[in-house]
Amino acid sequence: MTRIFRFAPSPNGELHLGHAYSALLNSDLARAVGGRLLIRIEDIDRTRCRPEFEAAILDDLAWLGLDWEQPVRRQSEHFDAYSKALETLRLMDLVYPSFLSRGEIRAATADPAWPRDPDGAPLYSGLDRDLAAGEAAARIASGAPYAWRLRMAAAIDRIGPLRFTEHGSGPDGETGDVTADPGRWGDVIIARKEIPTSYHLSVVVDDALQGVTDVVRGEDLFHATSVHRLLQALLGLPAPIYRHHGLVRDAAGRKLSKSEGARGLAALRAAGATAEDVRRLVGLAPAQPTPST
Ligand code: GLU
Repeated sequence: MTRIFRFAPSPNGELHLGHAYSALLNSDLARAVGGRLLIRIEDIDRTRCRPEFEAAILDDLAWLGLDWEQPVRRQSEHFDAYSKALETLRLMDLVYPSFLSRGEIRAATADPAWPRDPDGAPLYSGLDRDLAAGEAAARIASGAPYAWRLRMAAAIDRIGPLRFTEHGSGPDGETGDVTADPGRWGDVIIARKEIPTSYHLSVVVDDALQGVTDVVRGEDLFHATSVHRLLQALLGLPAPIYRHHGLVRDAAGRKLSKSEGARGLAALRAAGATAEDVRRLVGLAPAQPTPST
């Protein structure tokens, strides 16, 4: 079976060394097993994503020596596919519209002892999980803002224990056959009123639609994999193999962010760095020539 890898940047800023590492690792691994490499543009948030970032990202990836298949999948062109998946979850009564504003959520979870998700955000209180159906429909009809949240406890009950295969490792060294623990995220947002999807939903739908067999990404997404496994099980989608890798950090040990200045690829290129320099900087061996067939 031909293995399929993907690098899935969000075009809301420029690539930095951390992205370069992830992209190069995907490319190296695909090449080593004679697999395919896809690029997917994760641009569901139209307010933060810009075409000029997408163009710069693709230009940087080509400069790094990546060779990917066309056409590139752009998530903003596939809202129908995500809406369908959301509808499936809705018919299973596993999502509900939540009307609380960010401020109301913050107020309800202000207690420092309030439980937090793996990213450190307070868990959703569940305050409007059990609104009467008529009340929810009336609020939607009145134009109130809302987000679709997953009924996490009900979803876990329906599916039972889940595992995934980890070929890299999580932040605490989790590797091999790993137990998924989606409950740590509480009632995650699956879609929004203005955007009929979320990162979690579209990544799972796309990985399945594109036949992705190997998800290679930063360990900051390790815990999100538990939510992805749960959604895959609910939607009847296959589970890829996961390989979470360590993050490239700045001198102070912090994870790099999109506005990284000197660590941005554009600045490195402007300063005369080569793709081989980037490989060296992120600790990868020199590129291997493409095997001739
Ligand atoms: N689009 C995500 C990001 O830029 C990556 C998603 C993934 O690899 O699953 O962080």
